[in-house]
Amino acid sequence: MLIDASVLDQVGEYARKYLPCERCAIISDSNVASLFAEPVRKSLIGAGFQPALIKVPAGEKSKTLEQAGGICGQMIAAGLDRQSFVIGLGGGMIGDISGFVAAIYHRGIPHVQIPTTLLAMVDSSIGGKTGVNTPHGKNLLGAVHHPSLVIDDLDVLKTLPNREFNQGFAEIIKHAVIADAKMLQALKVMRASGLRHASETHALQSLIKRNIQIKSKIVAKDERDETGERAVLNFGHTGGHAIERAGEYRKFLHGEALSLGIVAACAISIKKAGLPPDQRDAVVELLQRFKLPTRLPPNFPREKIFNALKFDKKFEGGKVRFVVTPRIGSAYVTEDVTFDDIREAVETL
Ligand code: NAD
Ligand code: ZN
Repeated sequence: MLIDASVLDQVGEYARKYLPCERCAIISDSNVASLFAEPVRKSLIGAGFQPALIKVPAGEKSKTLEQAGGICGQMIAAGLDRQSFVIGLGGGMIGDISGFVAAIYHRGIPHVQIPTTLLAMVDSSIGGKTGVNTPHGKNLLGAVHHPSLVIDDLDVLKTLPNREFNQGFAEIIKHAVIADAKMLQALKVMRASGLRHASETHALQSLIKRNIQIKSKIVAKDERDETGERAVLNFGHTGGHAIERAGEYRKFLHGEALSLGIVAACAISIKKAGLPPDQRDAVVELLQRFKLPTRLPPNFPREKIFNALKFDKKFEGGKVRFVVTPRIGSAYVTEDVTFDDIREAVETL
C-alpha cells in the first residue's frame, strides 16, 4: 500500500517489487484515462512491463457484465495470460469492474488498484468486493478478490469535482460514527476545500490512512460478510440506498444519499439504542460542514423511498437487520428496528 503525493510515475517501479510478470492491462474510464493513464503507462514501460490500455465510458452505466466481457476480450487480444495482472485506474466503478475482471480472468490474476476518487480511496478499494450491476439490481454479480497492491496518489484528487470529493466524506463520517469518535473530533476542524491544498497533504494522507485502517480492521474480522461484523459498515445505507434508488440514481450521488441515510440512522439510534441527541446533532453538523445534504428537498416524493425500502429489504415480520449506534465510535446490528421506525425517520428528513 502506497499513499502519497505524485506517485503515479512510480507505479511501474513499485509494481516491480511485487509482480514478476510482464503483461498487464490498465483499465480506466474515459475521464480518468485522459487525465492520468499516460504517466502510469510510461512508468510501467520504464519498469519493463507491457501495458495495454483499455477504456470504458465513464459512469455507473459501464459497470455491466457486457463491458466486463468486452474488457476480457481485449485482454485476450493483447496477449494477457495467467501470469499477467490488471490495474484499475479510476473511481469505485473502475475498481469494481477491473477487480471483477481480475477475479475471473484465467480464474484469477492479480489486481492493482489505483483509486482516483476519495470514495474509492477510503472505501471501495479496500475489502476485496468486486462486481458488476445487472438490470435487476446493483452489484448482483461479483467475487471477493483482494487487490495485491493499492496505490493512492493524493494529487489526482485535485481534478475531482467538488461534489465527488465531498461525497467521500459521507463514508469517512460513517467510519467515525461506527468506530472512531476521535476522528469525528478531528474532522470538526477540517475544511473540505482546504484539504486539497498542497499545505494539507499530510492531513489528507493521515485521514485516508486512518479510514483504510478502520475498514480493513472490520473486514478482516468478517471477510465474507458472514458473522454480521462487516455489516456495521452498512450504517446509514438502508435509508441511503433507498434514497439513491428513489432519486433514480441521478438526483443524489451515493455519498449524498448516504448522508441522508446517516441522519435517519442517527434518529433511529436515539429511539432504539439510546444515542444521546447531542451526538446526533454533532454528526449532522459535520455532514453539513462537508456540504452534504441532511434534509430531503421538500417536494421529494417520499413514497418512492418507502417503495424502494420494501424492494431492497426483506422485512420479515416487519423487521429488518439494521445498524444502530449507541454512542459515536460504536455500532451494532439489531433486529429491533421495524419498517415503521424507518418510515418515521425518513418522514422527518
Ligand atoms: P466513479 O468511479 O463513477 O467516479 C465518479 C466520476 O468521477 C466519474 O465520472 C469519473 O470519471 C470521475 N473521476 C474519477 N476520478 C477522477 C479524478 N481524479 N478527476 C476527475 N474526475 C474523476 O464513482 P465513485 O463514486 O468513485 O465510485 C462509485 C462506485 O463504487 C459504485 O459503482 C459503487 O457500487 C462502488 N463501490 C464499491 C464498494 C466496494 O466495496 N467494492 C464500496 C463502495 C462503492
Ligand atoms: Zn457506501
